[in-house]
Amino acid sequence: MAAILLLNATYEPLAVIPRKRALSLLLREVVDGVTEEMVALASIGETRPIPTVLRLRRYVNAPRRGARWSRQGVLKRDNYTCVYCGGRAGDRRHGRVLRLNDLTIDHVLPKSRGGRNTWTNTACACAACNGRKNDRTPHEAGMVLRWEPKTPRVEYLVASGNVPEAWKFYLEI
Ligand SMILES: [Zn+2]
Repeated sequence: MAAILLLNATYEPLAVIPRKRALSLLLREVVDGVTEEMVALASIGETRPIPTVLRLRRYVNAPRRGARWSRQGVLKRDNYTCVYCGGRAGDRRHGRVLRLNDLTIDHVLPKSRGGRNTWTNTACACAACNGRKNDRTPHEAGMVLRWEPKTPRVEYLVASGNVPEAWKFYLEI
C-alpha cells in the first residue's frame, strides 16, 4: 500500500497522496480521517497512525483530471481479464492455459484506423482474442466487450500492490 486517498469535502476522490503529505494535512487540520484503517508513518522519532482515507474539511474546486493512461494501468483496471473471452491467467481458453504475458492491450478502434491510447479506447485482451479481432472494431469482428472501458477516477492505479479495502467504497471498484 503506497499512499493515502484524499477526498474532497463532498467525498469525491481527488488524489492519491504520499503519507508525509497526509500527515502535514492532518497536522494543519485541513483534513479528517474517514476510515479506521490506518497506516504507520515514522516521523521525528515517533510512529504516527494515518487513516488511509482523508477528507478535506473545505471543498476545493478541482478540475477532474483522469488518471494517466498506461498499459499496466489498463491491465490492472481490467483485473488482468480478457475483455472478450473473460479469460484470466491460469484459465483455459482457446485450447490452452492463458499466461499472464498472453494478456495484451486491445485498441477498441484499432490504432491503424486512428484509435488512440486512451482509457476508453483500450482494454485488456488475450493474444488470441486480440489476434482474432485484428484491424476491426468489435462490431465488425462480431465480438462483444464484456464491460465498457472507463477512465479511472483517480490515479489509484499507480499505487503499488493492492488497493486498500477502505478505498474501494470511494473509488467505486
Ligand atoms: Zn480472450
